[in-house]
Amino acid sequence: MLVTYDGIVISRRQVGESGVFIDILTDEQGIIEAMAHGANKINSNLLSSSALFSYSTFCMSKSKLRYTVNSAKPKFSFHEIGNDIEKLALASYFAQAVKFCTPSEQPQDSIVRFFAIALFEIMNGRSLGSVKSAFELRYSAELGFAPNLVACDNCGNYECERGMYFLPKKAKIICADCFNKEYDGEYVLLFPETLYAMRNIVFSPLDRCFKFGISEPAEKQLSSVCEKFFLNSVEKSFPALGYFKSLNGGDLRNL
Ligand SMILES: [Zn+2]
Repeated sequence: MLVTYDGIVISRRQVGESGVFIDILTDEQGIIEAMAHGANKINSNLLSSSALFSYSTFCMSKSKLRYTVNSAKPKFSFHEIGNDIEKLALASYFAQAVKFCTPSEQPQDSIVRFFAIALFEIMNGRSLGSVKSAFELRYSAELGFAPNLVACDNCGNYECERGMYFLPKKAKIICADCFNKEYDGEYVLLFPETLYAMRNIVFSPLDRCFKFGISEPAEKQLSSVCEKFFLNSVEKSFPALGYFKSLNGGDLRNL
């Protein structure tokens, strides 16, 4: 059977002299593992489409055992990410996260578009800390772990002069007037800017969720809150995340 899907290569491994197995992220079938014969040959017409983070239209044959790429037409190139080790580490973290969280051969809602926007934001010089936070929190929401950030879970107030607390394990916010100081679970008193950014990330259309301005202290808080929330939600750690943080000169390492 012949099938055609738009997708992004999120991992690849060489097979033999010149063949490559690629994992392609698609909306229609989740993650597809496909064989690209001869893709590592310098004159192969699959060379660029089988590269990591290639966004292409893949024409494949599907047998009982596997998909085989027959041809591919590039749609957009994110290869530039590979020129910067920090950008590559962050994109690799996103790829590992998506690979872990996306089932094989099951339809997904807009995952390719979301992943493409995230790669685009990495490539185009937005603060990597903010891109990472936006990815973690929005992806948590897309996976069904959305925290309730609309209003205080107790009194329904949208804002509070004394601040809002985020309770990560309960995935909700409580205003300072309602917060019980004897609460013994995890909590963070959010900077107003942090809450504003979190609401933007969760409630904006996909193409706007990465776009927000934030000061440095709030960005650090946002980074810490979003990372912990995401890793707790998916119950997994990712090697590329540790590597990305090790490259960040301590900025993100000590959060
Ligand atoms: Zn309240």
